Amino acid sequence: MNEDIVEPKVVDVVYETDEPIIYEVQHGVAWITMNRPQFNNAQNGQMTYALDDAFGRAVADDDVRCIVLAGSGKHFSAGHDIGTPGRDLHKQFDNRLLIAPHVNKPAAELLYTREQEQYIGMCRRWRDAPKPTIAMVHGACIAGGLMLAWVCDLIVASDDAFFQDPVVRMGIPGVEYFAHAFELPPRVAKEFLLLGERMTAERAYGFGMVNKVVPREDLRSTVESWAAKIVKQPRLGNWLTKQAVNHVEELRGKRAATDAVFHMHHFAHAQNDLTLGNSIAGLDGKAMAAENKKRADNA
Ligand code: ZN
Repeated sequence: MNEDIVEPKVVDVVYETDEPIIYEVQHGVAWITMNRPQFNNAQNGQMTYALDDAFGRAVADDDVRCIVLAGSGKHFSAGHDIGTPGRDLHKQFDNRLLIAPHVNKPAAELLYTREQEQYIGMCRRWRDAPKPTIAMVHGACIAGGLMLAWVCDLIVASDDAFFQDPVVRMGIPGVEYFAHAFELPPRVAKEFLLLGERMTAERAYGFGMVNKVVPREDLRSTVESWAAKIVKQPRLGNWLTKQAVNHVEELRGKRAATDAVFHMHHFAHAQNDLTLGNSIAGLDGKAMAAENKKRADNA
């Protein structure tokens, strides 16, 4: 019995903080701030579950009528944690979906289970939050960071913000939540992925991926003023409005498309494992960042 269960891998995890998310409420707005500035807010499991707790808290609090997602430090988010001392891939948290533990599953099943729960599952939960959400993006918003911004209803960015999904370099067709071709026109989505280059906030604004671009010093006040307007609107009206637009996206096939590409994503992880013995092609955060910098310098 249970020959398909394996011993969980023991890996040292060193968290640099026990507060990866800062949660504050001001004037009816919940401010959820990613707080791993030392690692450019790389998203580990610890942060993912703290994010989910924060969204849950904001939704449960009737005094909160709008939610802002932000990042502390120099960047919004460098993406999923693929190399900090706090990378906790082999740590089991209390799953929020009706899904089995991942850490004791063999081969491709481990990552497939974890990413159903922690990536595509969480992204859908947050997107469906019954209150309007605003992503306040500054600096880098890379790969896994895109997923966090994209699930928000509105995106306000500073003029120094940039967006990038370089995971094709790992042989993977985009991050787990494949909204690329909904956020961008198809040909631009192909360019974004195939070249893996940085897209400025200004260019993203041109495609409607970003709602507003403002100077860095005006970012917080702009988001505050938008949130203040939303807070004054009727609660149910706000919920129905975001559901209405999300429903149209579903009619356009968003859920089916993200499901389909999630499976391509996992085929690519498995292929990497089979050919290279590593699901992300042996590229850690440092290697990806160094290559990003080299390419940006040569651009
Ligand atoms: Zn993945």
